[in-house]
Parts: sequence; structure tokens; C-alpha cells
Amino acid sequence: MNSRHRVLEMSNYFDLQTIFPKRVAVLGAARSGIDVARYFLSHRVEVFISDRCDPEKLNKIIAENAFVNVTFEAGAHTEAILDADLIILSPGIPSGMPLLQKAKARNIPVWSEMELGFRASRATFLAVTGSTGKSTTVSLAGAALSAAGIEHVVAGNIGLPVIGSTPSVSEKGFAVVEVSSFHLETIDRFRPKAAAVLNLMKNHLDRYPSEEAYYRAKMEIARNLTHDDYLILNANDRRLFSWGKTMAGRMRVIYFGADIAGSDSFWCEETLLRYRFNGQRGIIGDCAKMKLRGDHNHDNASVAAALAKIAGADDIAVFRGLCLFVGLPHRLELVAESGGIAWYNDSKSTTAESIGCAVRAFPGGVHLIAGGKDKGCDFSAVREAISGGVRDIVLIGEAAARIEAQWSGLAPIIRAATLAEAVAASASRALPGDTVVFSPGCSSFDMFRDFEDRGDQFRSIVLNAVGRAQEALK
Ligand code: ADP
Repeated sequence: MNSRHRVLEMSNYFDLQTIFPKRVAVLGAARSGIDVARYFLSHRVEVFISDRCDPEKLNKIIAENAFVNVTFEAGAHTEAILDADLIILSPGIPSGMPLLQKAKARNIPVWSEMELGFRASRATFLAVTGSTGKSTTVSLAGAALSAAGIEHVVAGNIGLPVIGSTPSVSEKGFAVVEVSSFHLETIDRFRPKAAAVLNLMKNHLDRYPSEEAYYRAKMEIARNLTHDDYLILNANDRRLFSWGKTMAGRMRVIYFGADIAGSDSFWCEETLLRYRFNGQRGIIGDCAKMKLRGDHNHDNASVAAALAKIAGADDIAVFRGLCLFVGLPHRLELVAESGGIAWYNDSKSTTAESIGCAVRAFPGGVHLIAGGKDKGCDFSAVREAISGGVRDIVLIGEAAARIEAQWSGLAPIIRAATLAEAVAASASRALPGDTVVFSPGCSSFDMFRDFEDRGDQFRSIVLNAVGRAQEALK
């Protein structure tokens, strides 16, 4: 190990004024890689970018970002990355790559962008991971901190690279970060003050050898927590609940979703968000006043409230923040109300469980549009939710046949070739007082660029259809 490696190993706060890696290899030239490169270049560190995309594309990226004095390789990651003091991985790149094993054997630290953002910041980190609900929860926590006037940024997997914002937060401020299991594969000193794990569901089995391996990656979030730090866990997730019991001696465990005797807890009773925390009991407020719908969002609000209280926010400010938050696009987003029919875009729903959450968020009268690229989800797991309040189902995409087989007998099922056809089918059947929910429960890549493209298309098809219907009435 050379002297620079030793310094990188030993230092928590990665102050580039005094500690200089001479050369950094950045793997992946998408948004996070670009922000990493920009950060190091601004600190006069040599940057080498490696991406598997074609050379023309990488040249364009380098030119668009006006990077000078950057060396790079395209088409493949080669041993050239080993000529560096530090390697930063973009989330899309598997940390088990043989080349990275070689780097580790040579004592070259390999960090995720989350580790770098943590080391380069003096802020206190509040971290959220889990299979679903992360973006909503970090946004709710951010809204609560804003209402309390507490300095903070929201960053991470939500689409804002951590390194782009956390270095500018002062030591009194907070970084509320959405952490993916991919980030957690390459953390080292990452030690948030509070770490929440929302839920563990079958996911990313394309990247992990087993469900267990994926869950273990998520649990890495607590690796460096000590007795002053908080681990916030879902009381209704059997695996997380028992994990909390084993961690309670090492750190402060808070449960959400139920009142757990003998433990600090944040939970909703009916719709009242209550807590027992630091020897105090209290009520944050009535979740029915939030703009977000659904019991799953009561869980997200409970976690956000716990994080905000750890950061020192008072109950009134926390409640104000939770109520002011209007929700993120594509997560049960109300896109139109016309003729007494409400239209919701839930394009971010890519699992069967998400369809269940979406349907349960309404008292009944739901016309569901679902389907997309088949990820192998078990749709029969949400049969009960579907039979509860769904009037009819329109299915699109590759997964349509398998979903139809798993939901047979629950409600009339209609097949549509396009999203426009699906919207027309629901529009023709919905009555005043009903709700049309587009919650695909599948990934989007069979018919759309990504979930955002899918949700944007749904929104514009609905707005067009609603506009035409209103014109016809004139
Ligand atoms: P993530 O960032 O983890 O992908 P989002 O906040 O973007 O999660 O929400 C994605 C979808 O997951 C939502 O549309 C909703 O259907 C579902 N969801 C949100 N919160 C929860 C939760 N706490 N439990 C289960 N499902 C949830």
C-alpha cells in the first residue's frame, strides 16, 4: 500500500484540500460518473473515465461537459483503470467484476459514489434504503426538514448524484440520501446518523445470485452504525423485525408501522401518526390531511417523521412538511379529473406489490390498467387487493397473458395493444365517482424508454382524451 492509499484508508472526511489522490478512475459516464469527474477535476485531480459505450458517444459526453485534461477509454473497462489511487463506481456497474477484484488485491480503494459523497461532506447523513418507497420517503423527510428550516439536501438514487450536492452542506446540515443496494456493495466508512430500511421484497434477482444476497446487500447500510446511531426498521416485515432484535444492543433501533412495546416506534393508528421516541410520546398529526394517498404512504410518512425528529425538527414543522408535500411524478400522481372520473398515473409501479398498494389506496370503483415487460413477479400475491375494489382490468404488454392467468375470475379483463387503446377502454367503462389507475406492476422496456416516458405518455394520452371529451360536451 503506498502512502496515498494509506491516507485514503484512514481518513473519514475526505478533505481534498489536504488529501490528494493523484489519479482517480471513474467507471461509468452517466450522470453520477460525470458529477464525480467534475468534482475531482475542480480539485485538480487527474481523472480517467472508463465506459463500455461506443467511443463516439463517450467523446460526445466529454465534449458536452467541456472536460479538458481528462483521459478516457470506451467500449470496455480495461486494466488501465488500475493505474489510479482510487476507483469510483457508478451504480450500474457490478462490484464483483474480476477487474475490480484485481484492484482490491492491489489495495486500490473501490468506492461507490455514495461513499465518496459521504467522505467529501461534513453534513450528517440520514439514509433510506429498501425495495420500494425510497424516493417518496426521502422527499417527505426533505419536506419536513424544509418546514423546520433545517439546512439539508436530498440526493442519491432519486436522480441527484450525492457528490453534486453534499460537499456544499455545512457541518450543521443534513444529507437525506436514497441508497440503493448497488451503492451499498462498495461502501467502506459510510456511516449515516440514521439508516432506514423500508421493506425487503424480491427484486434485482438479475444482479444478485439469490434473494438472500440482495437482502444482505441492503443490510450493509447498518455496517458502521454504533450506539449513537439509529436503525429504523419496518415492524411488519418479519425479516427486518427480527434483524432489529439482533442489532438493538449495538445501535438504537426504531420500529415503524406498529407500536412495538419496549422499543421506540413511529406508527399510524387509524390515520393518526403517533410516536414513542427518546422517552417521549406524541402525535405528529392526522395523515388523512396529507396529499399522498394510501396506507403505504403512512409508513413512508412515519419514517420521514422519525428522520426529521432525529435531525431536531419539532412535531408541528414535521406535520406541516408532510402535508405540504404534493408527491413525486409517476407515483399515484393525479393527472386529471373530468366528468367525475379521476385519473392516476402510477407508472413507477414495477412490482405486483406496488399494484396492491395503488389499488388499496382507493375505497373502490377502480378501473386498473396494468402490464408491461414481465419481470417474473407473482401477481397472484395481490389477488385479494384486486378483488376488493377493482371493477375491471385492462392489460397491456408482454406480461398480459401471465397476469390474466393469475387474476382470472377477479374482474372482467380486457386486452389492449397500446396504452392509448387501454385508456380508451377504461374511459368507455368508467362512471362518475370512479377512478382509473395506471399501475403497471412491470418494467417498461417492452414499449417505452423508461418508467418516466411511460408515465409521460399516459399523462398526455389522458389529457388529450379528457380535452376531447370536454370539447364534445360544448
Ligand atoms: P423507490 O424509490 O424505492 O422506487 P418510490 O417512492 O419511487 O420508491 O415508489 C415507487 C412505488 O412503490 C410507488 O408508486 C408505490 O406503488 C410503491 N410504494 C411506495 N411506498 C411504498 C411502501 N412503503 N411499501 C410498499 N410499496 C410502496
